[in-house]
Amino acid sequence: MKLDANMLRYLSKEDFRVLTAVEMGQKNHELVPAQLVSAISRLRHGGSYKVLRTLLRHKLIHHENKKYDGYRLTTLGYDYLALRALCARGVIAGVGRQIGVGKESDVYEVVDEEGNLNVCKFHRLGRTSFRAVKSKRDYLKHRQNYSWLYLSRLAARKEFDFMRALGESGIPVPEAIDYNRHCVVMSIIQARPLSQVIRLKSPAKVYKQIMLNMVKLAKLGLVHCDFNEFNIMLSDEEDITVIDFPQMISVKHRNASQLFQRDVDCIVKFFIRKVKYSPGEEELGALAYPTLEEAVEGVDLDDETMLDRQLRASGFKARLGQEGIHPRSDGEEESGSSGEDDGGSDGGDSLFDSEEEEAAMQELAEDLRDLGLREEGEEGEDEGSGGGG
Ligand code: ADP
Ligand code: MG
Repeated sequence: MKLDANMLRYLSKEDFRVLTAVEMGQKNHELVPAQLVSAISRLRHGGSYKVLRTLLRHKLIHHENKKYDGYRLTTLGYDYLALRALCARGVIAGVGRQIGVGKESDVYEVVDEEGNLNVCKFHRLGRTSFRAVKSKRDYLKHRQNYSWLYLSRLAARKEFDFMRALGESGIPVPEAIDYNRHCVVMSIIQARPLSQVIRLKSPAKVYKQIMLNMVKLAKLGLVHCDFNEFNIMLSDEEDITVIDFPQMISVKHRNASQLFQRDVDCIVKFFIRKVKYSPGEEELGALAYPTLEEAVEGVDLDDETMLDRQLRASGFKARLGQEGIHPRSDGEEESGSSGEDDGGSDGGDSLFDSEEEEAAMQELAEDLRDLGLREEGEEGEDEGSGGGG
């Protein structure tokens, strides 16, 4: 798939109005009938049919008439909706080369209005393992087809919120610039994934930085859950930047200790096998093999400023009932885009219709992660050093 920012210029206001109508219709239709698109977009009679044909030609929507006749967004269509919103805010003016293909994302270089180079991460949750979960669970009934949109969107929002909060707390992460739908725009890190850097000048220094930040995260209330050599960027000066955290959990999550341990083990394994460095307690003290229990010793986990509480990280609410607070309400979030000329929504009124729905989606996202864990375990010890990509 090639993203071309110029395409945004070729598509008219009406094209986007209809595309947005399809997105909105998908909230409760697997396939959105043309009549409904017409009604939502409020284009004069017949107008939307012509536009639908244009959108089909550009592969922004998909048409089906097996069960019944209707349309749904393609990944590309969803991408352009997000790109357009970010363009309208001046955050993105052009899309450059693709710099990363993860299991669950595509990462592109982008430039903003002033020509600054940044990165845009398109979340593609459910791309790999969604089917397996889908067959087991049935949370969403008619919304099943919409779930990849929901999941990717939830992941982007989480990643943005986490990134911003972690940056403010002094964890080395990219700067969180903006997000829309399933896209997160962040500063570009001029570094390489640690997985690609085998010879280190000072392995002890790098190892220590990694463990220190893992412990710091825990003291803030969070476990990364994918803290491995693929998600640690290393600069020429051997300073680290941590990336990729839509799936962070609360230290109160039922599997927190196990997942923290798994992160630690991944790093240890990488250093022993690939870097040929064995962490020693004489040199590193407790940072040689930290545990979650040690990391949070003396920390008041119920403190109001803990990030798991602030950000409603998964596992937190489970223990405290409905106490979770919204750091930014959906209302605020949407009003951010109200400057858009067509008054079009930013993809519906709010991300979720109800708390229950959000909880269900969160659970589904967790299932996906657990499934990932299991798949990894089954793959055997050698190559699956933790998620990858
Ligand atoms: P995934 O969830 O798919 O693993 P990541 O966030 O790990 O996504 O990003 C995938 C790849 O994209 C990374 O391994 C890295 O090479 C690149 N990347 C991601 N974010 C940035 C960034 N801010 N700066 C530079 N490269 C990045
Ligand atoms: Mg990654």
